[in-house]
Amino acid sequence: MNILLLGSGGREHALAWKLAASPLVDRLYCAPGNAGIARECELVTLDLADHAAVAAFCKAHSIDFIVVGPEAPLCAGIVDDLTAAGIKAFGPSGAAARLEGSKGFTKDLCRANAIPTAAYERFIAADPAKAYVRARGAPIVVKADGLAAGKGVVVAASIAEAESAIDMMFAGGLGEAGAEVVVEEFLAGEEASFFALCDGETAIPLASAQDHKRVFDGDRGPNTGGMGAYSPAPVMTAEMSRRAMDEIVLPTVRAMKAMGAPYKGVLYAGLMITDAGPKLIEYNVRFGDPECQVLMLRLMSDLLPALLASSDGMLKNFDLRWYPDAALTVVMAAKGYPGNYAKGSPIEGLEAAAEIEGVEIFHAGTKAETGRVVANGGRVLNVSALGKTVAQAQARAYQAVDRIRWAGGFCRRDIGFRAVERERAAG
Ligand code: AMP
Repeated sequence: MNILLLGSGGREHALAWKLAASPLVDRLYCAPGNAGIARECELVTLDLADHAAVAAFCKAHSIDFIVVGPEAPLCAGIVDDLTAAGIKAFGPSGAAARLEGSKGFTKDLCRANAIPTAAYERFIAADPAKAYVRARGAPIVVKADGLAAGKGVVVAASIAEAESAIDMMFAGGLGEAGAEVVVEEFLAGEEASFFALCDGETAIPLASAQDHKRVFDGDRGPNTGGMGAYSPAPVMTAEMSRRAMDEIVLPTVRAMKAMGAPYKGVLYAGLMITDAGPKLIEYNVRFGDPECQVLMLRLMSDLLPALLASSDGMLKNFDLRWYPDAALTVVMAAKGYPGNYAKGSPIEGLEAAAEIEGVEIFHAGTKAETGRVVANGGRVLNVSALGKTVAQAQARAYQAVDRIRWAGGFCRRDIGFRAVERERAAG
């Protein structure tokens, strides 16, 4: 089969790496890709917002299947447009992608189907939102309804903080995404990311992961797109995964089908594991980045048949095999990220780093320039490793990090610390 992968981050490098290993693949293309993805396949220049151009490329290059990495084209309905053009694609329709594109839509779906989530209300004006905040008290959470590139959530410790978040959103601080706002109950517990593959009718669990969103060690500093992750998440025991499927994922798949918007693709459930069990914080309609990187390292089975079965509605009785090992990824970012940062600094030592046992280096934001690799984004590399334990995966990943010579970069030194502490405590 000829495959076209869309996207340019570490998630797409991990997907390209896994797809390139499939015996079913003849030609693999990626648009727009990066310097690491270029080692797995052929890069193509395409504007992902121009669905007609993507379809035209597919026709011209006999593409059999498109795998869409990021959420923006999914929410913009690229799968609908490709399907209409007769091209098979992996991922949800625009209507089904509202699970990520509108937090209010997802909250209403939870309420209507008794899916456990934080208590909430939706607002289109500041005054009633503030009145609700005052009535509920702090801590409380304020969320922009639409896609806000990870900046749309304010966990407010005080009523004043919640009120200023409401003002910021309604004043257009997040553009269209903040035209509607969800205010919801603060949930206490441990967070986990849970992934399921859906085919419109049914779903199969993938694996769990935990990520580190804060930029500095000890989970301090501003939020980022993710500074590292590991899989599995110790809090997602077999029992908790079963409950996440039965109480959250499967009722969602049934509800989406019933409303005529069947959900196909990866459903990424951001969960809070509370004393009462798993509660949904949010859905994403694609693999997480950097969680995808650790999932792909642990996946033993061929990825492509699973993605095809999702698209074809054939997941019933489908089975995937996973390595029991732990996987961990450390994000190396450009100095200054998540604020302003420079592009173009050279990166060396990648080959030596990749020689360490169990290590795989995915590129998140790089570019090839006159025979060398240079930084080309905020998050730049995902130094990833498998190990028998999280501690071993962590040690291997940092051994590889220490072989990379990149004056313009930095990383956290404590990715996985909670899981490593747990392992230590368990002896
Ligand atoms: P989201 O973009 O919805 O995943 O939210 C970003 C982060 O905000 C989450 O990963 C949580 O750490 C936090 N968060 C969101 N909603 C809640 C909530 N209801 N209670 C506590 N923390 C939350």
